[in-house]
Amino acid sequence: MLIAVLDLEKEPLEFNLAFAPGAIDYGFDIRQLDPLSVEGRADLIVEHRGPNEWIDDIRVRADYKGRFEALCARCLDPVEHPLDGQFDLLFRPAGADGEASEHSITTSETEIGYYLKDGVLLEDVLREQVLLSLPAKTLCREDCKGLCPRCGTHLNSEACACGASAVDPRWSALSSLSARSKHS
Ligand SMILES: [Zn+2]
Ligand SMILES: [Zn+2]
Repeated sequence: MLIAVLDLEKEPLEFNLAFAPGAIDYGFDIRQLDPLSVEGRADLIVEHRGPNEWIDDIRVRADYKGRFEALCARCLDPVEHPLDGQFDLLFRPAGADGEASEHSITTSETEIGYYLKDGVLLEDVLREQVLLSLPAKTLCREDCKGLCPRCGTHLNSEACACGASAVDPRWSALSSLSARSKHS
């Protein structure tokens, strides 16, 4: 859904939507499990930068809730992440801060995004918020053993034969040494 500047000039926009799984692409390793509900509003904020100079900012505030699944970084098993969050963001027209290097960067600068042409696509905002809310690295459990790099066996549930032969040859040399010393 496009949050258009032209519409906001007439009146603020209130929304209460549900995005079906598949409506937003989060990348290959993240899946949305059920409808993502989003309730919020968008307002036009006119920023005066001089006597005859102003820019149209779009402020988007919303609460969202949904269930997601990310793949374990080691064994690739899906792990469920329920999300229940909110955001309050300001979008400036792209290029409005063209000479930004001259302005001092304030701490609130991180909350500012930019929009191209007509406005902000709510789906883009949601995708970014969801990705920011999910852990950078998902693990199915702290001590996940992952997959065997040789045969692909899921090592949490099963051992494979590769483990034995993968033992560092220096260790077997040591163990035969100690075996010898015991006998002598
Ligand atoms: Zn795992
Ligand atoms: Zn193996």
